Amino acid sequence: MSDDKKYGLETVSIHTGCGPCPETGARTIPIHQTTAFTFKDAEHGANLFALKEAGYVYSRLTNPTVGALEEKLTALEGGSGATCAASGHGAQLLVLSALMSPGDHVVNSCKLYGGSVNQFAQIFPDMFGWQNTTFNPDNAEEARAAITPKTKAIFVESLSNPEGVVADIEGLAAVANEAGIPLIVDNTMATPYLCKPLQHGAHIVTYSTTKFLSGHGNAMGGAVVDGGNFDWLKQAGKFPRLAKANPNYNNIIFAESFGNMALAIHNHAVGLRDLGINQQPFNAYLTFIGLETLSLRMQKHCDNALTIAKHLEAHDKVAWVSYAGLESSKHHAAAKKYTNGEGGAVFTFALKGGYDACVTVVKELELFSHLANIGDTRSLVIHPASTTHSQLDSDGRAKAGAGDDVLRVSIGIETVEDLIADIDATLAKV
Ligand code: PLP
Repeated sequence: MSDDKKYGLETVSIHTGCGPCPETGARTIPIHQTTAFTFKDAEHGANLFALKEAGYVYSRLTNPTVGALEEKLTALEGGSGATCAASGHGAQLLVLSALMSPGDHVVNSCKLYGGSVNQFAQIFPDMFGWQNTTFNPDNAEEARAAITPKTKAIFVESLSNPEGVVADIEGLAAVANEAGIPLIVDNTMATPYLCKPLQHGAHIVTYSTTKFLSGHGNAMGGAVVDGGNFDWLKQAGKFPRLAKANPNYNNIIFAESFGNMALAIHNHAVGLRDLGINQQPFNAYLTFIGLETLSLRMQKHCDNALTIAKHLEAHDKVAWVSYAGLESSKHHAAAKKYTNGEGGAVFTFALKGGYDACVTVVKELELFSHLANIGDTRSLVIHPASTTHSQLDSDGRAKAGAGDDVLRVSIGIETVEDLIADIDATLAKV
């Protein structure tokens, strides 16, 4: 579309990135299942390799189907460009690889998805020498206190998985601006339907598109959306990959040559090229189609989740429910500011019967699939302590809101009365 800014989120979800194919008239997005693209002539090939001209060379760097998804994500977030990766973890590696060098430091929320906690606290330091310090995402002052001269970014989930803590994005953006570093927000749980972090001052948005954006539990993917609002040249000493001459590309300076798209272009031209964590065209296609119904699905996810969270809160077998959509939640005020007062689809609750009761529930529920994913049309359940968060020690699990008595659910878009009947029949057995 010529001007995405004048259209609403539903229109952008459907139309952006996909006009009719000029050659065949195909109305929906084609899957460009090709490895490489022919050059028109020698000069064209040379220009593409030197980044003097935009176009397609090799699908590890760019691909039209993946590019269409990147265009849609850019428009949905209000960014300047996007880069898809093979998974959410791939996106996190991709963005940090543009910013960090061995010995550098990132300040990340202690309320991250368990796999991300492991990535930041164990794998990044071990493999790349990227150190980290954690902070509570609703306390920007803790983030400020953790920043050192080596810190290159603040990383937070807008709505945390699994506890649903809503980050103080504006407070954190102010801290990041003061320190001259970008604020990166993982918006996987909220999606642009509930929250647009760039509008609250964040500089970069990351996604596991595997979850609500694709929405049907059938396509792995990740994305980095460049907000286009960070002045890399002003912080050239901190961010040499973006703001100093690159000898691989005729000494161009990405921030000078590509302005507010510097990070997005670098993520393709260097990050994807050299890390090889590109998204497959078929997965991009599924996510592209999934996004067309994002708003319908997200509202139904939220409505069902709120109804079930209220039901569980009043249930005598349940010790507590952590869901930002509930008025009783300590995160509800922040949810009103950042996520339309909604809590999304994912939440945790604790059973008075502890570990054994949790094990019985995951076994007995009929409509809930017992698996390690969120953001499917189907309702899902997991016992984090024995699965997603099992790599953390008990202290880390408790900090992440995933103790032994805790269950995580991702509420689907089925008939809510059927889900409640399933829950009641199961809780009667513990
Ligand atoms: N971020 C969040 C909030 C997640 O929940 C997940 C996975 O569950 C990830 C990132 C990692 O995404 P992926 O599994 O696509 O690598």
